[in-house]
Amino acid sequence: MIVLFNRKVEISSILSIIRNKKQSIGFVPTMGALHQGHISLVKKSLLENNITVVSIFVNPTQFNDKNDLQNYPRTLENDIKLLQNLKKTIYIFAPDVQEMYPKEDNRIFELGELANTMEGAHRPGHFNGMWQIVSKLFTVIQPTNAYFGEKDFQQLAIIKYMTQKEKRKIQIIPCEIVREDDGLAMSSRNQRLTKENRLNAPKIYEILTKNAPLFKENPISEVIEQIKNELNNIKNFSVEYVSVVQQDNLEAATTYAPGKLRLFVAVNVGEVRLIDNINI
Ligand code: AMP
Repeated sequence: MIVLFNRKVEISSILSIIRNKKQSIGFVPTMGALHQGHISLVKKSLLENNITVVSIFVNPTQFNDKNDLQNYPRTLENDIKLLQNLKKTIYIFAPDVQEMYPKEDNRIFELGELANTMEGAHRPGHFNGMWQIVSKLFTVIQPTNAYFGEKDFQQLAIIKYMTQKEKRKIQIIPCEIVREDDGLAMSSRNQRLTKENRLNAPKIYEILTKNAPLFKENPISEVIEQIKNELNNIKNFSVEYVSVVQQDNLEAATTYAPGKLRLFVAVNVGEVRLIDNINI
């Protein structure tokens, strides 16, 4: 059974009854255009909690690019169907912008060192906007457990930091990246790729996995350059960054440490900006 809520007061009053009964609440925040990556988070939450809440909200304050916000796919009816197919009780929270931002939110957060690199450096304001919305949603839902994908590994790290800083009693549960059969990390943005670019997009993961073993015996900076070159040589690809960082603090890695490093990439494929990462 799907129960759809648009208002904060309505969902929070139902959830407070559940909380009073000492039942657990699992929360999966999303921007909709749901795919099997999102569904894997929902399935995990369903297994681990008495009730699961999925929020669907395209958060304007985390978009540093107006076009990206405008073109972001919005497919609520289809999202509801996908969740219905799971044949479980799921609460959907799908507020409009006015409901989440009744007045302009100018709060600037101290995001910590984690936000200085990669997505933080290349998308000014992105993590501040993300912090605004996730913090608001956490206050409305007050979940026991919240589920985030490693697809957005840096986001996951900042959310863990935020939860500590705001002294929230919420378990942050990381979930593995779900990929298409051809290796492309699932993303709501994939549906905006042209046919030709969609055919080439799996090369991102292919190039990452092919080059990963080289870090063992070569300087990190050289392998990064090699990956950048290979990616930039593909038609319509333009690399924003390739980075190797320590998994626990996201600081740039200088020497190889098996299992402790992660390789990140952001590539513009035609008009569509894609990100991916793997453990090395
Ligand atoms: P989004 O709707 O893109 O904001 O994503 C909502 C949540 O789903 C975030 O925690 C993402 O990291 C996660 N997610 C998105 N794509 C994937 C994927 N391919 N595999 C695992 N998690 C994902």
